[in-house]
Amino acid sequence: MDILIVGSVAFDTITTPFGHIDNTLGGSGSYFSLAARYFATPNMVAVVGEDFTAENKKVFLDAGIDMEGLEKAPGKTFRWGGKYDFDLNKRETLFTELNVFENFQPKIPSNYQNCAYVFLGNIHPSLQENVLGQIQKPEFVGLDTMNYWIEKAPGELSAVIKKINALIINDSEAREFSDESNIYKAAKNILSQMEETKHPVLVIKRGEYGVVMFQYGEDGKLQIFNLPGYPLEDVIDPTGAGDALAGGFMGYIASTEDITWENLKKACVAGSTLASFSVEKMGVEGLLNHGLDDIRSRSEQFRLLANF
Ligand code: AMP
Repeated sequence: MDILIVGSVAFDTITTPFGHIDNTLGGSGSYFSLAARYFATPNMVAVVGEDFTAENKKVFLDAGIDMEGLEKAPGKTFRWGGKYDFDLNKRETLFTELNVFENFQPKIPSNYQNCAYVFLGNIHPSLQENVLGQIQKPEFVGLDTMNYWIEKAPGELSAVIKKINALIINDSEAREFSDESNIYKAAKNILSQMEETKHPVLVIKRGEYGVVMFQYGEDGKLQIFNLPGYPLEDVIDPTGAGDALAGGFMGYIASTEDITWENLKKACVAGSTLASFSVEKMGVEGLLNHGLDDIRSRSEQFRLLANF
């Protein structure tokens, strides 16, 4: 099954207490696609500059990602720099050079327009809505955003989240978006804002503490699924973990074509598994070269963690 993804492709410069890497392949679209491809075929729509090499592109092609939607524009690729504290939950953005990403107007190739599964990565909410308008019959649409858009474009964000099925955001974004400090009140507030969608889903990412998912059941009761983070001893680079989680989650849903609550829980496990692989190495390296057996065995560990 194909899954359409629109997001950023970047060159990242990352410093953590355990390593440093310059101009490595990154971006939300890259992490998402490299995680989702274990379950489905990502059709990636993104923009890069003239400095993006055939070798860079090969990383995606070797992973089975369809790159027809990758646009090469005059100028430089988006660059981002970040530095993590000894407490890896704390990150400082050192620089953001939008470059060709600044004028990105995603064009969806006609081959991609019939994708039923869609992920709108972190770009301006009005561009997300524009992309959605180019898809013929979307069945399940996920969306990610960030504090920047919650502050700069709240009206546009509110408009687009009414049209999607799953909002996948982190806990600080959920608090800011709902203006509620308590995560459960925040979840109810956000789901009520998505009420035009049939059975909206909210996935709140909590970094090393895992993920909590919310959806109202047929009986009108709020269902909650709480999954801990995988207990890793060696976390090298948390960059992109949230995008890898979203990629695993959405890829699993696309491959199973099943949006029941029980299957959404399995999708959370798939997403958390990919996120845990992602943080074990610098950059996107942690998402390369896994087999389905690795994914199955770590998913099984998740089951044991919370089973009683
Ligand atoms: P995360 O750790 O989930 O916040 O994702 C980090 C990735 O997001 C990095 O690879 C960056 O290149 C990318 N990124 C950082 N800022 C932005 C932005 N404003 N828009 C899109 N992608 C970004």
